Amino acid sequence: MVARQCPVCLSVGTLSASHVRNAQETFMMVLVPFIHPFRCSACNWRGMMGRMSLVRHSRLNAALNVLMYSVLVVVAIQLYGVIHDSLHPA
Ligand SMILES: [Zn+2]
Repeated sequence: MVARQCPVCLSVGTLSASHVRNAQETFMMVLVPFIHPFRCSACNWRGMMGRMSLVRHSRLNAALNVLMYSVLVVVAIQLYGVIHDSLHPA
């Protein structure tokens, strides 16, 4: 687990996952599945951040992106096969 940094006071390791408190945050979480409300114990900042600590320009992120695209390609190929089979039954 990579330590998150508070965007306001720049403390590291002071952010903890917080509960959703209002309709706007619930809406945001439904809209963007990877974000979650966090709270900083040092400056009391509260806001939405990526649930998976998104360290910019990290190699892990690049690897994850490649993995995501690979999965998408595999799913697309399988979907094509299903559509192809339904159009041309044996
Ligand atoms: Zn803070």
